[in-house]
Amino acid sequence: MPLSRRDWIRLSSVTGAGLFGGQSLFGQFFQPAAAGPSAQTRTLVTACGLCDSACGMQATVTDNVLKFLQGLPGDQHGNGGICAKGASAISTAYDPDRLKYPMKRTNPHKDLTADPGWVRITWDEALTTISQRFGGYLSQFGKESLLFVSRNSPELWSRFMNAIGVVNRVDHNDVCYMVDRIVQRYTMGPHTFAYDFANSKYILLFGWDLLARNKVVFCHQMMAAKEGGAKVVSFNPMYSATARVADEWYPIRPGGDLAVILAIIQVLLNENLFDRDFVGNYTNFAEYEGQIRENFQKYTPEWAEKESDVPAADIRRIAREFGERRPAVAPLHKKTIGANHANATQIAHAIAVLNILAGTIDRPGGRYFPRTISIPGVDAIYPPPSYPSKTGRRVDGRNLLPLAHEANNGMFSTLADGMLNKFPGMIRGVFWQNYSLGGFPSPRHIAEALKSVEFMVVMDILPVDAALLADIVLPSTMFLEGSDLISRTNNAKSPQVVVRQPVISAPFETRSIGWLAVELGKRLAPDYFRTDSGAWISPSVLLDEKTKRAGLANSFAEFRSIGMVTKEQPFVPRTTFATASGKCQIYVPEFAQRGYAPLPEWKPKRDLPSAEYPFFLLTYIPGVHRRNSTQNNKVLHEMMPENSVIMHPSAAARLGLGEGTPAVVRSRAGQITLPVHLSQTLRPDCVLVAHGFGHVSRALTLAGGKGARDADLIPDQTIEEILAAGNFGGSGCIMDAAVAVEAAG
Ligand code: SF4
Repeated sequence: MPLSRRDWIRLSSVTGAGLFGGQSLFGQFFQPAAAGPSAQTRTLVTACGLCDSACGMQATVTDNVLKFLQGLPGDQHGNGGICAKGASAISTAYDPDRLKYPMKRTNPHKDLTADPGWVRITWDEALTTISQRFGGYLSQFGKESLLFVSRNSPELWSRFMNAIGVVNRVDHNDVCYMVDRIVQRYTMGPHTFAYDFANSKYILLFGWDLLARNKVVFCHQMMAAKEGGAKVVSFNPMYSATARVADEWYPIRPGGDLAVILAIIQVLLNENLFDRDFVGNYTNFAEYEGQIRENFQKYTPEWAEKESDVPAADIRRIAREFGERRPAVAPLHKKTIGANHANATQIAHAIAVLNILAGTIDRPGGRYFPRTISIPGVDAIYPPPSYPSKTGRRVDGRNLLPLAHEANNGMFSTLADGMLNKFPGMIRGVFWQNYSLGGFPSPRHIAEALKSVEFMVVMDILPVDAALLADIVLPSTMFLEGSDLISRTNNAKSPQVVVRQPVISAPFETRSIGWLAVELGKRLAPDYFRTDSGAWISPSVLLDEKTKRAGLANSFAEFRSIGMVTKEQPFVPRTTFATASGKCQIYVPEFAQRGYAPLPEWKPKRDLPSAEYPFFLLTYIPGVHRRNSTQNNKVLHEMMPENSVIMHPSAAARLGLGEGTPAVVRSRAGQITLPVHLSQTLRPDCVLVAHGFGHVSRALTLAGGKGARDADLIPDQTIEEILAAGNFGGSGCIMDAAVAVEAAG
């Protein structure tokens, strides 16, 4: 049943969202507490929560109305700056579309195009209903019957999931950093995003367009590296922002990065251009030297040229430069490369080997482990009874990928297959928090799967697409309304903690996920949410305790007034590494023990161009948006309201397409229609679509119906396909598609 304009007006009056009434409701709520000449202006320190860089912020607040956000001098991440997304978070805080009250659906027919018939309910009704439904499923169908699509944080939420024994917690990390995390764990130790670019002399970038992604910490560091004389070489099928500041750019064939990296390693080994001191003392090279040298011998630059279109002479020269200009580093970050293709596990391993051979693991100019202040967790402060065992079937099949299972991340890419085909009917109840359907490959499949469950709860800031399928919708606070202690992790040679504090009050009846954990915990697992004295755990008392025990201040209130603590200390490089051998592992015995390749080897990407689908699909996340969560932000929407299909003029001309021509883009997974945008910045055999657009929900008055989902072109996976491809790190292959383009009829 499609929604009429009238339906949406009624919906808005219930949600307070959107079209008419919502604006005035919000206007009333945010009236200054004391208008007039007595207006009080305060500046509060807090930390951004839009991306994991969590840049320090200063918030200017007048009479409880947030007026301005700017960077925090001295903050190691933002270095006094914030990006457009962070600065525009005010528009999200005051977005009239925000969810305001708990609601339940009255229309039993679930479909993205159907009016859910939301009606407002009390928090008490919401909590009672959720605990009764989830509790009933647990006792009747066991722990495997619940699916939590949610991060494993904050820790109170994690405690709640542990306390009720959630088997099927699924997160997005198979389409993000899971592969890199797994590979790092076995090659060098705990996962880190910290790079000391400012002291690097040679930076090899495979895919990571770190300037356009606009994470302030990395942008600053890259520019510092350039100013310090570092040479930057960018391999990217498009002439990205980072490629433009690089000294050399190679329009590499998608998926060919692995070939180039293998060939660089081959040259480094053959010409003994690696850091002999580091490799000799801190790696397992000597133990496996024969296997290592033999493994890479076949990957010559001439071979790599055929797989990558990068000239062999350039590969050889770059390898020599990389080996000689120290310190050198080859970074890998999140989705970039490490989740894009079926050969991502091999890429992550090969990049790890490059960095180990460069001798820059936890060394100046390299990839290092952040120095942090230890902040005790909730389980240390209030030790819980033993958690119940997590028995039951894993709906996404992750248990068949032991390393991903151990990492406790993933799997978006196999969830729909599990729910629809492998274990139909097993999942009865779903809790869904802060995730977009568009973050899944083949989002139509996951929507179909969600329609099949009996009871679904969605908690979010905004009426996102998933909420249209929910039985109960819960309104969430956002970071400007929350409290936390935030450690620096991406630029952290000295430990630093920044406060996150509410700079505005939580509007209407919004609540935090930590609050929800305690409230559901009281009802479903009370023994895990009491202190020794028998009182319920209080998130604010917990925060006080953490602040004290971390030595930051005597209370969280005191730390709020301090804002930031830095413990300057000399950077002392590690001499032992948190692997089984205590050394950096080029050859990974644990991979061999599981029957996986212990050394990186060539594998092609999954979907290659064919007569039917002649183009590589590329996707990107525009610098002005935070994945798929900011398209309804008024300021950012104005900067980039929708996406297009970007093509090289020569390719478009062959198809009779010009600037602005509506075009259909098709893959084996689905199709979308977008206007063509011509650009000479990408290879003629590639098609580029920005991620984050194509929201269905018309309750998102700005973003709803604007643009199209790139994910509709990207095939999701089965566990069997992942295993057959040797993709043992479980890459979600979030860019691995080939497409055809034609004029829209
Ligand atoms: S880079 Fe931007 S979005 Fe990310 S934390 Fe910093 S200000 Fe926020």
